[in-house]
This record gives sequence, structure tokens and C-alpha cells, in this order.
Amino acid sequence: MRCVICGGKIEKKKVTFSYEQKNRYLFVKNVPAEVCTNCEEKTYSPEVTDELLKFVNDEFLPVKTIKVPIFDFMTR
Ligand SMILES: [Zn+2]
Repeated sequence: MRCVICGGKIEKKKVTFSYEQKNRYLFVKNVPAEVCTNCEEKTYSPEVTDELLKFVNDEFLPVKTIKVPIFDFMTR
């Protein structure tokens, strides 16, 4: 199997999925994905994508919550 973007080699890996929308941010660790060894493009299977939506829709409890500093380049 080859990367759809660059034609590079694909490897199965556990990755951290990050989500950002408006003022909401979340990370999901240890997500199984296929990652291009060349451009690092991540591809999730339809099953995994379905599960990721559940995290976004608050169907699971987070394992931990961290404080994240937010900066604005225009306010420095
Ligand atoms: Zn690629």
C-alpha cells in the first residue's frame, strides 16, 4: 500500500489524534493509523474514524486533563 499524497511507503502506527474547533481542543492517544514514512500523512480506517467521532462528541471520559497555554502571535 502506498501514500495517496506522495506515493511513499505506509506503516501501521499508533498516533496521537488532535482535534481543534472554535475553543475546543482534545487529544486522543494511541490511535491506530496508517502513516506515510515520507510525508507523515495519517490515514484512519472508517472504524477508527467512527470511534474518533465519539471522543469528539464526549462519549468517553478523558484519562486526564491538562492545562494548555494559548498564545496569540499578534499579542506578544
Ligand atoms: Zn506520503
